[in-house]
Order: sequence, then C-alpha cells, then structure tokens
Amino acid sequence: MAIPKKMAGAMLPGNSTVEMGYFDVPVPGHGEVLIKMKSSTICGSDIRAIYHQHLGKGPEGYQKGKIAGHEPCGQVVQAGPGCRRFKDGDRVIVYHISGCGVCNDCRRGYMISCTSEQYRKAYGWQRDGGMAEYLLAEEKDLVLLPKELSYSDGAQVACGFGTVYEGLEKIGISGNDAVLVTGLGPVGLATAMLARAMGAKLIIGTDTVAERLALAKDKGLCDYVFPSGPDNVEQVRQLTGGMGVEKAIDCSANDKARLTCIQATRKWGKICFIGEGGTVTFQPSADIIHDQKTIYGSWVTNIWRMEELVERIVRWGIRPESLITHRFALDKVADAYALMASGKCGKVAVVFDEELK
Ligand SMILES: [Zn+2]
Ligand SMILES: [Zn+2]
Repeated sequence: MAIPKKMAGAMLPGNSTVEMGYFDVPVPGHGEVLIKMKSSTICGSDIRAIYHQHLGKGPEGYQKGKIAGHEPCGQVVQAGPGCRRFKDGDRVIVYHISGCGVCNDCRRGYMISCTSEQYRKAYGWQRDGGMAEYLLAEEKDLVLLPKELSYSDGAQVACGFGTVYEGLEKIGISGNDAVLVTGLGPVGLATAMLARAMGAKLIIGTDTVAERLALAKDKGLCDYVFPSGPDNVEQVRQLTGGMGVEKAIDCSANDKARLTCIQATRKWGKICFIGEGGTVTFQPSADIIHDQKTIYGSWVTNIWRMEELVERIVRWGIRPESLITHRFALDKVADAYALMASGKCGKVAVVFDEELK
C-alpha cells in the first residue's frame, strides 16, 4: 500500500476544542518505524490536563502543535534502518512514553519516569501521538499485539489497562480478595475487568455518574455499585461481613473517594491510588497505622509488564475493546473529545480502516 505524503492530524489548543492540521507523513530514521494508525483511544488525562486548558507541567506538559493521542495501536508499514525485531506488517501497541533508554528508570522499563529532560517524550504530549493517520515511533517503544486481539484492544493496553495492571500487581489480586473500585470511568472499569480476570469474586464500585454505574453493572464488571456518598464505607462493610474489602483501588482522584478506599479496607488490607491529581485527608493513626494498612501509588507501568499483560488478556479470554462505547472516524475527532469530556460514556476511540464499525 502506497504511503501518502500528507496526513490529517488532530491537535488540542486547550480551549475545549480540537484543531485539525495537515502534516508531512514522517519518514522513519534509524531504529524508528512508521505506523498506520488503526485505533487511538482517549484517556482521562487528555481531558484533565490538555483538552480544557494546558495544565500540565514537566512530563504532563503538552507541547502546542503536537498531534494528540497517547493510546495508539496500529500496523507497521515502514521499518527504518537498524530495526532489530519489528518489521512491516507487524501489529503493534505503542508504550506511550519514549524514554532515553539508559537512565535507571528506563532500564527498569519504566520510561514513564525517565529522568532525561532531553530525551523523555510522551506520544501525544511532547511528540506527535496517535490522533493522525500515521505515527512515527521508536522500535524500542513497541509491544507486539497478539493476533487474538483487535487494534482497539491494543489501544486500551497502551495506557489504561497497562496502568491498571501495574497497580493491581502491586497490591496483588486473587480469589481471596473482595475489591472496591472508586471511580468507574474507563480506568475504573478496566480495574474491575482485570480484578475479575485475576480471580476476585466480589467487586464493588462507586461513582457519581449514573451512566457509569449502569455500565459497570450491565457489563457484569461490578457485583454491586453505589452512587458516591457518605454511606459508601458502611455499604461496603455490609457486603463484607462488617470487615471491609481486602483491596481497594481509587480511580477517581476525588478526596472523599480516596478516604472511602482507605476506610472501607479491612485490617492488613492494601489500597492503591491510580487516579491522578487532587488531594486527600485522613487520620494516619485511626485510618491506616492501627489497622496495619498499606497505601500504594502507581504510575503507568513498565514495558515488560505490558508484554505480559497482552499475553494474559488472551489467556483470560477478556476483551478490553468491550469497554469502548463510542467509535469515531478521525474527521469526527472533535465529537469524540467532547463526549469523553462529558463523562457520559465508557471508553471513546478514534478508529481507522477495519476498526470503523
Ligand atoms: Zn493515558
Ligand atoms: Zn530514561
């Protein structure tokens, strides 16, 4: 298939609108690949830090004029010179931060926290991302997409599912655990889906948005859902013999929901904070110390765990794309961001070619 010279791409100027631009299709250099985009999903962090206004600093600083989208999945159409593993035709997920490759964090596979100011660049933030027909990526940032999974499954792994899996692995989820998920946006729904796959038999969710509660229940991801409120701790205790859950994950970034996570977790339990921003107030002695609880923070994931995750998603027989409630073609990308900003949806995807359904 001939590669065109020009392509459309979407930028986020920061006033809750989307600006389309026309860009040269990049030519891959040494160790780089050109990817034909197939699915590019929208993340809560795009809305939180870029769409309304450019709030981010440092790693979350969006560079004006860059093509948005940090959850890209597509097919390699041109491998540059010096590529060692990936080749034309490969279906790939892009780990969404390109790191220097040689700092300690990169060597652990956590390019998310690469310490090089010069070389750390996130796709869709400091370098061009997936909301375009083609994407230039570094070969070292690629994860092979198993044939059993669709490109829209893969796009979800690029950020959301990878981030969730990391958090769940940190606190360790098994069939022993009752699990509380606060915040049932796409990350919270992914948390429930993976916790179930990892063995959890009782999953409880909270959110403020009725559509999200309904989605979590209808898709069988949560066994019980409650509107966020002051009774949540008591509601969770009633479902867990008065004890609380063994594991709780906050995906809301809301201060009260974080406190609910802490207080609705039983003695010796573990809590993981994934949702970004905001604050939380709790009483260290009463809320964690005397009950021997541990709070974990978790930021994205490493690339080897992402490789393991795609293998396990196939083994578990789950489909991340089932969380996508709306698909848009690239020329409707503005509608996609507006819908995601409204919160009245599951995951929202911009899709191409065979992913247009
Ligand atoms: Zn993201
Ligand atoms: Zn680095």
